[in-house]
Order: sequence, then C-alpha cells, then structure tokens
Amino acid sequence: MLAPDELRKAFKMVEEENWAFRAFLKATEPDDLDRVVNEWHKTLFAEMDCRSCQNCCKSMTPALTNKDVARIAGVLGLTFDDFRTKYLKEDGGEWIVNGKSCPFLTNDGCSIYDYRPKACREYPYTDKKETSSRLMSLVANCAVCPVVFEIFEKLKKRY
Ligand code: SF4
Ligand code: SF4
Repeated sequence: MLAPDELRKAFKMVEEENWAFRAFLKATEPDDLDRVVNEWHKTLFAEMDCRSCQNCCKSMTPALTNKDVARIAGVLGLTFDDFRTKYLKEDGGEWIVNGKSCPFLTNDGCSIYDYRPKACREYPYTDKKETSSRLMSLVANCAVCPVVFEIFEKLKKRY
C-alpha cells in the first residue's frame, strides 16, 4: 500500500484513468461490487494504522450531526451553541468543521478520538452497501486515503 505522503502524486498519474473507469462501473454496476469492496476494506484496513496516516483529518472537513455536536460539546464542557460558534460553520444546510484541517487534529492524533463525529467513524464508507451510488466520492477519495487508492487499483484489475 502507498504511504500517505505518496498519494497525491500517485493519484495524478491515474486520475484520468480512474474517472473513465468510474464511468464504466456506473454503466455496468457489477453485481458483486459491494461484496468485493467490503472484503478489500476489511483486509486492507487490517494492515493500515489510521493513526499514523490521518490524511483524511488533514484534508477534509467532516459534517457533524446534532448528536455529534451534543456529545462532543458535552465532553469539552461547552454548550451546544458555543461549540458551533467556536468550531463549525454552516455549509449547504450542514454544519461542517471550520478550517482547512480539523481543529481537533493534534500532533498526537485526534484529540476527541473516542467521541469523534459519525462521519469520521464511517469514512471512507468502503464497508457500506450501495457502492455504485458513491463512485464519485470513491474516486475523489483515491487522492486522500491509501486504502481507497488500493481498492480502486484492485477494482480496475478485477473488472
Ligand atoms: S474529529 Fe478527529 S477523526 Fe474527525 S477529522 Fe477531526 S481529527 Fe480527524
Ligand atoms: S481512513 Fe484512510 S485517509 Fe483516513 S487515516 Fe485511515 S487510511 Fe488514512
């Protein structure tokens, strides 16, 4: 698997090919797509230490649900509204983390790891069903997540 800092360069080399392959997958929708992606997710994440990567935390701004806000604000001793004012901004009807990288990311990793937002727990969604409805984000995430990059390379070989 590629090292996190090698990813952007590697993605540039295959970006065009990946978007073309995404169109092929969308048109053909292989019956076993969810199963193979879910299996590779399991195998590859077993080899990956997310705490030594954190590429997603450095480059993405997760959306927080009301439950996330209530939970994390409680842990930090803030009111719901104070937490929103301090850490979030509204974007297209969602509350997302305010800033280019997440304010909870420290040199020691996520400072709220045990209470992190649902979106962070679920990223990159490769253990979910209905992969064919998320192919755009799958390709975009090839530039962020080494596991997704590897899954996409394996998909191109398989189909
Ligand atoms: S809340 Fe934690 S896991 Fe989520 S993006 Fe921020 S640092 Fe990463
Ligand atoms: S989910 Fe992907 S990008 Fe995020 S820390 Fe884990 S391997 Fe890195």
